[in-house]
Amino acid sequence: MSNESFKKLYVDELKDLYSAENQLIKALPKMAKAAVSEELREGFEAHLEQTTGHVQRLETIFQSLNESPKGKKCAAMEGLVQEGAEVMEEDLEGAVLDAALIGAAQRVEHYEIAAYGTVCEFAKVLGEMKHASLLEKTLEEESQTDQKLTKLAKKINAQANEDTSSQEDEEDSAKPGRRSPKHAA
Ligand code: FE
Ligand code: FE
Repeated sequence: MSNESFKKLYVDELKDLYSAENQLIKALPKMAKAAVSEELREGFEAHLEQTTGHVQRLETIFQSLNESPKGKKCAAMEGLVQEGAEVMEEDLEGAVLDAALIGAAQRVEHYEIAAYGTVCEFAKVLGEMKHASLLEKTLEEESQTDQKLTKLAKKINAQANEDTSSQEDEEDSAKPGRRSPKHAA
């Protein structure tokens, strides 16, 4: 017999993830559009496709629980998406912009990895082995995405550190004060 309040916690955490994934579906196309590197853009697009699969897996679980997936808003994802949006509003260019986008995306992946790890263990204790294997698949994809981003970051960070072309562009366009950090204002 499972404890009803623990089972409710499990359902609530699944709802939180359902909200998180749906928020990410809205944010990823914007991040893909902002990405300078083709490899990074394709990575965001590929993860968008995976993310629709993550939503479908959660829907399968909610159906088997006879529960609605709706009713919660993931405040953490809202904040992470907001930080990603702020990155895109800054005057960053080229590989520096991409490095910042990767940083925002990896924060998202780490949040999801933590959340899926939690619900996956909950599912096992509750004897929901089919759920656990679905959640484990998603967890694996989130981890792979994070690893791909780490690999890409090594390349892009090096470019960001070397690339002087964006600075020259800015000097060419001669916009005084454009290079001063926003946060100083
Ligand atoms: Fe996901
Ligand atoms: Fe993800």
